[in-house]
Amino acid sequence: MPTPPIGVLALQGDTREHLAALDSAGAHAVPVRRAEELEAVAGLVIPGGESTTIAKLAVTFGLMEPLRARIRAGMPAYGSCAGMIMLADKILDPRSGQETIGGIDMIVRRNAFGRQNESFEAAVTMEGVEGGAGRPVHGVFIRAPWVESTGAGVETLAEHDGHPVAVRQGPLLATSFHPELTGDHRVHALFAGMVHESRERDASGAV
Ligand code: GLN
Repeated sequence: MPTPPIGVLALQGDTREHLAALDSAGAHAVPVRRAEELEAVAGLVIPGGESTTIAKLAVTFGLMEPLRARIRAGMPAYGSCAGMIMLADKILDPRSGQETIGGIDMIVRRNAFGRQNESFEAAVTMEGVEGGAGRPVHGVFIRAPWVESTGAGVETLAEHDGHPVAVRQGPLLATSFHPELTGDHRVHALFAGMVHESRERDASGAV
């Protein structure tokens, strides 16, 4: 049986950059717009963009509940920036009625680092990526959120200015920044590895 691909949610945002980054990390990646396409993937990247728009389109396309169901069932997912917001159980400063998919036991503050013209780039030391502390990742922060607080099961992989900007809870990964824009594919490689582990676990029948 062919190995199921990794999906990139293709409702809004920088889907193409994530597809290219996964490809460079050696993973087979496909865009996901419909519930049937979601069923066929082994993991999902939720891109940066505008979380209010992504959430609205997910509801319109009938994807919100299938997304929640897959994540509850243990599908690995990685969200960058707006994608981090989508994976948060709770958000601060939402647009009225803004929904998230949820999954990571954290509170995320939208636009926490400021507005578009306060976007910035910084070296970020991130655990879990190849090279670890010795080789910081280049963090591109664009109207970026930060993690305000986390539950006990959430591991902080990176901080900037004292705020968590990369977190992991089991098969779920989120970054405030956009590694897909940098040409450094180590965060995507980390996620591809998580998807691989999860496939192996499923194949071995372990719970
Ligand atoms: N501030 C945006 C939001 O709320 C996220 C920005 C981004 O993804 N670059 O979705």
